[in-house]
Amino acid sequence: MQNFTGGVARFQREIFPAKAELFTRLATHHKPQALYIGCSDARVVPELITQGEPGELFVIRTAGNLVPAYAPGANGVTASIEYAVAVLDVSDIVVCGHSACGAMTALAEGHDLSGVPTVAEWLRHADAAVARTAGVATGPEKVGALVRQNVSAQLANLATHPSVAQALAEKRLTLHGWVFDIPTGRVEALDVVGAGTALAA
Ligand code: ZN
Repeated sequence: MQNFTGGVARFQREIFPAKAELFTRLATHHKPQALYIGCSDARVVPELITQGEPGELFVIRTAGNLVPAYAPGANGVTASIEYAVAVLDVSDIVVCGHSACGAMTALAEGHDLSGVPTVAEWLRHADAAVARTAGVATGPEKVGALVRQNVSAQLANLATHPSVAQALAEKRLTLHGWVFDIPTGRVEALDVVGAGTALAA
């Protein structure tokens, strides 16, 4: 923990002064351009990957970057999506998956999740993606295929949220699917059928 408290001190001493003007403006303004929905995985840091400044990205991170399809009743993910779209009026939503995702690996390799029943239940939101990769042989290829299919499936789930559906119908919102490759830093932008193009080398 000491490295974190040291980090806070270093932030206040070295980083904050250079951005003081930005933070003064942000103190009364919150107008992010995009909603980023990614995995809770510690290795995939949205502001680092996108080089976004404070105030630019509204972020939701869940295990496996899963977005439950809309269902009546409050939950944190749905509320955050609704707020980002209906109140903050973000113009873009990115769902970002990543290589070596623990959640996707567990599903692809059929790990025993009986000791983590809540995780097992949560991962059911990836059922459609799992079904789409049923024919792919087990191994790294299967994990990679599932990671991609999962981004597509979560984009579909996202579109079932009324706030998102309305914004899409009014053409004021664009959805994007990304996959981040941890060892190379490459970000692949997926198209609707899952074959991607690199955003940058
Ligand atoms: Zn992950």
